[in-house]
Amino acid sequence: MNDDLESGQQRHRVVVVGGGFGGLNATRALAHADVDVTLVDRTNHHLFQPLLYQVAAGILPPGLIAPALRGVIKNQRNARALLADVTDLDIEHRLVRASGPDGRPLELPYDTLVVAGGATHSYFGRDEFARYAPGMKTVEDARHLRDQILLAFEMAELATDPQERAEWLTFIVIGAGPTGVELVGQVAELAHQVLPQDYRSVDTTEARILLLEGAGAVLGPFAPKLQQYTQARLEKMGVEIRLNTLAVAMDDESVTVKGPAIDGVAGEETIRGRTRIWAAGVQASPLAKQLAEKTGTETDRAGRIPVNPDCTVPGHPEVFAIGDMVSLNKLPGVAQPAMQEGKYVGKVIRARLAGDQRIDPFAYFDKGSMATIGHRSAVADAFGMRFTGWLGYSMWGFIHVAYLIGWGNRLGTLYTWARALTFSHNRGHRIITFEQANVQAHEGDHGVAPASAPASIDAEPVGVRQEATG
Ligand SMILES: Cc1cc2nc3c(=O)[nH]c(=O)nc-3n(C[C@H](O)[C@H](O)[C@H](O)COP(=O)(O)OP(=O)(O)OC[C@H]3O[C@@H](n4cnc5c(N)ncnc54)[C@H](O)[C@@H]3O)c2cc1C
Repeated sequence: MNDDLESGQQRHRVVVVGGGFGGLNATRALAHADVDVTLVDRTNHHLFQPLLYQVAAGILPPGLIAPALRGVIKNQRNARALLADVTDLDIEHRLVRASGPDGRPLELPYDTLVVAGGATHSYFGRDEFARYAPGMKTVEDARHLRDQILLAFEMAELATDPQERAEWLTFIVIGAGPTGVELVGQVAELAHQVLPQDYRSVDTTEARILLLEGAGAVLGPFAPKLQQYTQARLEKMGVEIRLNTLAVAMDDESVTVKGPAIDGVAGEETIRGRTRIWAAGVQASPLAKQLAEKTGTETDRAGRIPVNPDCTVPGHPEVFAIGDMVSLNKLPGVAQPAMQEGKYVGKVIRARLAGDQRIDPFAYFDKGSMATIGHRSAVADAFGMRFTGWLGYSMWGFIHVAYLIGWGNRLGTLYTWARALTFSHNRGHRIITFEQANVQAHEGDHGVAPASAPASIDAEPVGVRQEATG
């Protein structure tokens, strides 16, 4: 614990739940305030989720986008970080109850509480899909997906039955928002550009890569021009896009989809494929519901708690809620609102302590939005202008590196991008082991039953394979 916390003086205590974009910015905004801040998170790191797909693609190691929280705030003498899972927000007694990694109970009293628990996957009431189509929200999720994608290529190399091989080479991404588009673009790059030279029996360019979207366009929140560009670009990369198409059923080896009717016949089809990735929806952290119940408020359909214009929870000026778990002014669940709300809340707390109660409501400054499609291609909507291709990609890269925490991580990311994307089409982080692959191959969610008889592999001559495209 730091000096101020050890001094025994009872200063104003701020507990911040969640060290993501909202919580970390609130903590940092209190750096020079006369308060003691306890930042509690169930992970020990601040995760830069926008680059998580690059971990899933084997481009970046997780450490570059997930710096340790206690390292990030090490120079902030009035703050400490705790690794614990928050289980109860006791608004009446002004206590946060949490559980340590070994299950020990913790009680954190507060004078001001900031809750920034973020969001989690939503399967729209079909929670059984989680077993077959994992989503990506944490470092573990991204590693799991990376292993699953790499395992699929390994299994295709081992498969002697063409049908089985085709199933291993079929990748289905559900949801064509920015995350789905970024992930599907990476799978296409792996299959068409990175891996073809590495395999002997299997032609990775034969991979079937599908992107399913329930709405009528990819990248829903973006301008039509950028949506069309993205769709055309993905199709050129070999991605099969199905719009107005919903996943209605799944099992270990297939997804059943319902698309537009053709000639009056309902467009239902079962697609066999071993790798399914869920990128279709999010819902607020369960902490939002808990907070709503404790304060007599109702959450919306996405599970978010409505907050006052100053980010406080109705009826409780001492409790702030920010980021993905709140609904405020119809702001989207992206990083900028969470960051700006975090900074704003820090300002409000400082102003209150200085005796100033006249605080302007939170005002959002929209800095635009962007998404990558693949290497050297992105769409960006910023400064009232729209950018595509290499220009969009450069803007995307510049902004994402700028927002990473720490110069070491920024330089490390630039160096890794230069190696993996510019000077060689390689992915430096594609380690899987037999033990790990064995577990994943037998997991019910995406594996096959073990082969009953040993397979004999006749490697096709290398020259038979097609050359990589694009
Ligand atoms: C794959 C992916 C890609 C994205 N890409 C973009 C993008 O390109 N651009 C963009 O603007 N936004 C993007 N987003 C959205 C953006 O990351 C979120 O909007 C942002 O992280 C929200 O910040 P937050 O502070 O509300 O939540 P988070 O950053 O998610 O932080 C929540 C924190 O709370 C902690 N927590 C949750 N529950 C508990 C508990 N019970 N106890 C203790 N700790 C808890 C979590 O561990 C986490 O650290 C992406 C999100 C994902 C998942």
